[in-house]
Amino acid sequence: MTKNYHLTPGPSELYFTVPDHIQMALKNNVASISHRSQAFKDIYAHTEKEVRKLLSIPEDYFMVFTSSANEIWERLLQNCTSESSFHLVNGSFSKKFYDFSTQLGRNAQKVEAPFGEGFKTDEIEFPSDVEMICLTQNETSSGVQLPVEEIYKVRERNQEALIVLDAVSAVPYVDLDLTKIDSLYFSVQKGMGLPAGLGVWVFNQRCVDKCNQLMEAGQKVGTYHSIPALLKQAENNMTPETPNVLNIYLLGKVAEDMNRRGVDMIRGEMDYKSTMTYGLLDRHPNFKPIVDNKDHRSKTVIVTEVIGKEPSEVIDYLKKEGLIIGTGYGKYKANQVRIANFPTHSKEIYFKLNDLLESLK
Ligand SMILES: *Cc1c(COP(=O)(O)O)cnc(C)c1O
Repeated sequence: MTKNYHLTPGPSELYFTVPDHIQMALKNNVASISHRSQAFKDIYAHTEKEVRKLLSIPEDYFMVFTSSANEIWERLLQNCTSESSFHLVNGSFSKKFYDFSTQLGRNAQKVEAPFGEGFKTDEIEFPSDVEMICLTQNETSSGVQLPVEEIYKVRERNQEALIVLDAVSAVPYVDLDLTKIDSLYFSVQKGMGLPAGLGVWVFNQRCVDKCNQLMEAGQKVGTYHSIPALLKQAENNMTPETPNVLNIYLLGKVAEDMNRRGVDMIRGEMDYKSTMTYGLLDRHPNFKPIVDNKDHRSKTVIVTEVIGKEPSEVIDYLKKEGLIIGTGYGKYKANQVRIANFPTHSKEIYFKLNDLLESLK
């Protein structure tokens, strides 16, 4: 029997070095060490160093661990807003962040693009006094990306508001000057190819200042994962709670592996695989990528309509050959499929995928 290989957009196939790292972790009993021990602090420091290098995180930006990106949505709102947030919504994940803001009693405002369409930020009217602008670099549900130039334009037009970026399915592909935004965050089960259950939250001094200001005004900003609680422990390479030690360890190892390979090389391979696959889908009578504008097409999550067949036929056909691709998101299961293009997905796997799609008639 062929091993099932996951081209799903998260969780996805593990980065190919992960099984060896898990074995080594078991051998060294990493999952049993105290989160207050020197051994853990060393792991924490190593992971932080490698992730900072991989994503070119500026030295004066903070980096902390959470349970996932969902948590970071809530923490950002609790710690860095009291009144309002503004959201560019073009799919289910960006919509959920907007919903969280409403649920927390903020005045959440949004500009919404139809599913499969992106944003030209010149055309957006940003509220002048909003506290936080929430962007999603790669909308995993619709396969739409926000080009980094558009992100920079949002900064130019909004100096006051905090600009926060969901980079969950963009990392480590997206090549971004972080000094142009105030916060970036991701979960590890997408492009990093790790088991789910760990989030990474990067933010600058402006976010810390805003949090302090809100606290001085009497706002409750949360408990163990407030910005001050996180930073107090991070200073000593620790977390407030007993964290996902194994995953923090694995993230450091994978980031190190990616750094050794070179992030430019990884990005180049991802470009190659996505160009090849969009090319095939554009030509193929049974497929039509849902994002028309080529500048807005995600490089990391390819979403296509299936024409003249049920998506399940395509999914089952590939599954027989050991390749698992994703369904459309939510109600789009009925006529779309999603294919992840992450660093772990080798060119060879992509040749096989393209051959199989080609032979599907
Ligand atoms: C998966 C995903 C999330 C949520 O990540 P969790 O780990 O489930 O919290 C948020 N945003 C985007 C763009 C995603 O793809």
